[in-house]
Amino acid sequence: MTTADTAGAILTVDLDAVAANWRALKARLAPGAACAANLKADAYGLGAERVAPALHRAGCRAFFVSAFDEGIALRGCLPADAEVHVLAAPIAGNQREFAARELIPVLNGLGDLEAWSPFARSAREAPPCDLHLDTGMRRLGLPPAELARLIAEPARLKGVAFSCLISHLACADEPRHPMNRDQLEKFRAAASRLAPHLGAARLSLANSSGIFLGPEWHFDLVRPGAALFGIAPLPDAPNPMRAAVRLQGKILQIRDVDAPETVGYGATHRVARPGRVATVAVGYADGYPRSLSNAGSCILAGHRVPVVGRVSMDLLTLDVSGVPEAAARPGALVDLIGPELPVDDVGAAAGTIGYEILTRLGRRYHRVYIGGAD
Ligand SMILES: *Cc1c(COP(=O)(O)O)cnc(C)c1O
Repeated sequence: MTTADTAGAILTVDLDAVAANWRALKARLAPGAACAANLKADAYGLGAERVAPALHRAGCRAFFVSAFDEGIALRGCLPADAEVHVLAAPIAGNQREFAARELIPVLNGLGDLEAWSPFARSAREAPPCDLHLDTGMRRLGLPPAELARLIAEPARLKGVAFSCLISHLACADEPRHPMNRDQLEKFRAAASRLAPHLGAARLSLANSSGIFLGPEWHFDLVRPGAALFGIAPLPDAPNPMRAAVRLQGKILQIRDVDAPETVGYGATHRVARPGRVATVAVGYADGYPRSLSNAGSCILAGHRVPVVGRVSMDLLTLDVSGVPEAAARPGALVDLIGPELPVDDVGAAAGTIGYEILTRLGRRYHRVYIGGAD
């Protein structure tokens, strides 16, 4: 059991910021649209067990995850009035378990529908499921040929209870991309053809970025994930979301260095002048990308300090020559992600996106949750 004293790093999750982000997204929605929360990958690495109840207290009643086991875990930490939808799990063979655990499976093809419909028809009351149409992502969901077949043979939908008809946008973070309107129109057209056979199913298209495309994309339910956790929904615009994560690494040692010494594995950093290097107890095994070797930076006492040398499994090294000695000392905490270092910037420096930085956050961190009362 790590404590703040023994851990090499402290991860602080601000549940009030997550709840505020959910409320801010909800406030942007077209009248009548509801806001769900996408908590796949353990709530983007932040801990679904803590994030989900905080969002429920904020008013969220619909949750999405990817995997069956994630659904079971989420069900266990949410009140009965919350819906838990499972986006990407095999249906065949699992029908009974989905229903028994009150999980709503997303049917991603006619095969899934064939596996689910006899089960739904045989139940006293058909348990709810979602239907996912592929309008352009080409990853999951009914491809156009299967949709055409379903429209021609609507009897396939008989006796099945639909909670949502969903699709997923491929380019929502590029507002000018023509794909956004194309997917919107395909979704609308499909929904109107299927509507007579889907009962009271709600329509759901937008993820975080999709919300910012405008009210036409909101339909009945939106499914944001990343923006809840402070990731910028529009990469080229100011970020309207509140940061929810702070990651602080602890300095283990400070050493004096001078030319022509080198730092770290492979001797990739050559010291040019007398200075000081701080060794921090976070490495790639904690999810801090090795691609930040000689490329990333951290914040120490308000100073930006560059990563020098390679990030190793458990350690990284920083050039702290420009920081007063009173601040750059063993035991001091360095922001790896923080108020002056948004997760999106860390992702960009590492050649990836904030999503990947969050979902890889390590298990060795001492985790602190603040807020979340309501
Ligand atoms: C991940 C995902 C979302 C949430 O996307 P964000 O960009 O994190 O808001 C919504 N819907 C589906 C189908 C997803 O896979």
